[in-house]
Amino acid sequence: LPEQEAFDIEYWLLEEAKLQRMPKPKSLAGRIALVTGGAGGIGQAVARQMLREGACVLLTDIDGEALAEAHKSLAKVAGKDNVASIVANVTSEAAVEGILEEAALRFGGVDLLVSNAGIASSAPLDETTLEIWNRNQDILVTGYFLVSRAAFRVMKQQKLGGSMVFVASKNGLVASAGASAYCTAKAAEIHLARCIALEGAAHGIRVNVVNPDAVIRGSRIWDGKWKEERAQSNKIDTDNIEEFYRQRSMLKLSVLPEDIAEAVYFLSSDKAGKSTGNIINVDAGNAAAFTR
Ligand code: NAD
Repeated sequence: LPEQEAFDIEYWLLEEAKLQRMPKPKSLAGRIALVTGGAGGIGQAVARQMLREGACVLLTDIDGEALAEAHKSLAKVAGKDNVASIVANVTSEAAVEGILEEAALRFGGVDLLVSNAGIASSAPLDETTLEIWNRNQDILVTGYFLVSRAAFRVMKQQKLGGSMVFVASKNGLVASAGASAYCTAKAAEIHLARCIALEGAAHGIRVNVVNPDAVIRGSRIWDGKWKEERAQSNKIDTDNIEEFYRQRSMLKLSVLPEDIAEAVYFLSSDKAGKSTGNIINVDAGNAAAFTR
């Protein structure tokens, strides 16, 4: 090589090596995230990931005891100034206003919303009471509407754009036996996200959806009746439920809360700056093909 060219290459390699050693700026540094259902399995994994990437996180949940636990364990890792929490029921308009007031008070606003607070309560159609139906609608549809409307208002006022990610479900796309109330509510969440994406675009607010399939480990949904109902409707033993979902999937893998958190993080970050109104299914291939 001519001397100057060799010198340039060496210089460039040295500069590159220096860059590699420099600490990488955290991708969500300076962002304020609100995570509903923050005491639950997926909510906590999402909050952990966002804190790791430099965001400040306000957790909210209806379960005060579990929320306090989650707050404590996240603050231990991320520092107490970066985490806050507030007990609130997402179906109450006043409580939701309170969440956004807390976000303003603690961190100065909200840039990233992860709407995730949810339940799983269903039954075969002829056993679906109006109470079961309304509970799904209240928490999964009205709850997502109230929280996203409140965050939308704040984001619009801030004029800084923003991101919303709805944790919906594969069952919002694909019907599941004995779960019409849940499936219908999850489908509504997905369509609500698309509608808000359309209105948010003019304000730089992106809205996307992550659809988990069965996330059994870490999720409190699977602690109770839902597990028995799913086992019954699939004609399997409750002890075999994780293995059943793993075997049924295209990839033969179990979906974990951390897998959902990765997708939520991606959509919340600037890496997904050109994605809105979109869905990522984190389901080991379950929505794409019928494998058994
Ligand atoms: P989880 O039960 O561990 O967490 C859900 C959290 O939401 C709980 O902490 C609960 O207290 C909270 N919550 C319930 N009702 C509330 C209300 N009215 N106001 C405020 N908080 C409320 O369950 P998860 O698996 O972490 O579920 C998170 C989201 O993922 C839910 O929307 C769920 O429907 C969805 N999802 C879960 C699975 C799964 O298999 N775990 C599959 C598909 C979709």
